[in-house]
Amino acid sequence: MLPCPPLRWLALVWLLCLLPLAPLAVLAVPVAAESRQSAPAAPADADPEFVYVPRVGIQVGHWNQDQLPSEQARIRRDTGAYREGVSEWELNYMVAEQAKPILEAAGVQVDLLPATIPPGYRADAFVSLHFDGVDPPIADLRRGWKVTTPYLASPKSLLLEQAFREVYPTVTGLPYDEKHGSLANMRANYTFAWYRFEHAIAPETPAALIELAFSTNPADWALITEQPELLAEGLAQSILRYLEQFDPYQTLNRRPPYYPLYTPREPMSLYDWPNYQSAGIEQITPDNRLLVMREQDGWYLVFVRGTWDLGWIPAEALQRIPNYHRNR
Ligand SMILES: [Zn+2]
Repeated sequence: MLPCPPLRWLALVWLLCLLPLAPLAVLAVPVAAESRQSAPAAPADADPEFVYVPRVGIQVGHWNQDQLPSEQARIRRDTGAYREGVSEWELNYMVAEQAKPILEAAGVQVDLLPATIPPGYRADAFVSLHFDGVDPPIADLRRGWKVTTPYLASPKSLLLEQAFREVYPTVTGLPYDEKHGSLANMRANYTFAWYRFEHAIAPETPAALIELAFSTNPADWALITEQPELLAEGLAQSILRYLEQFDPYQTLNRRPPYYPLYTPREPMSLYDWPNYQSAGIEQITPDNRLLVMREQDGWYLVFVRGTWDLGWIPAEALQRIPNYHRNR
């Protein structure tokens, strides 16, 4: 093992910030000043040739969606938002392709990934790109962007999400879409679902899904078509902000929270929200196996194993299945 790697990583960040990259200059200058103060000297025995190259996977949402493997056949026809003869994957691709050279110029290795994720994909960050769309009655009302981590977010995934919240709206000027209409689906996106699929990221890969804008909103559409480079810049700068704070040798913060597998003590309903007043959405029995996605106020949000059912259940209604380990 290399001695003192985090210190060396800080030195690399310091070097990257000094790269004379014109498009990065505005954001990079204050960071460079900060990093210069805090960057420690490299250890005496440091290999001056060694440079850690961070790897980032950018998934072009819906790209070759029809080629998803059989385990995901059910969503092969989910081609996403559509506007004026342009499919969502083309917009996602346009942004990804423009962000890639910005990241590469900053010393990042970039994988552009189609809809199909290599099994157990590992990287220092995984970002799934999408555009939102809604039907005409509300198309003028919904606009802006949003970001989420997977369910079972590791501290590093939360760091990645935070970097987007800090940087992306500043660069693009886009408002945050407060309606949160699809956040639950976003968190359970198949690319994150290592607990369900082979073709998904590894649990330790920090991840976020971003809806870059609404392709169905006139103001957002003007930005998409007239200044797509702003979206790419916002994407690249958000990832670079995350990498500035990222220690590749700190593996503990990559682990998602672990929950054992549960079963209900008796037949009962799953609930829409974490309280008994909300609607019952699905009947379950002690034969069902429940994967916990989240905990809140003494309730668990659970997936019913082998189905796509997701709902809330009070903790006291559950019993743990012993000696079961679902993490790979
Ligand atoms: Zn999409």
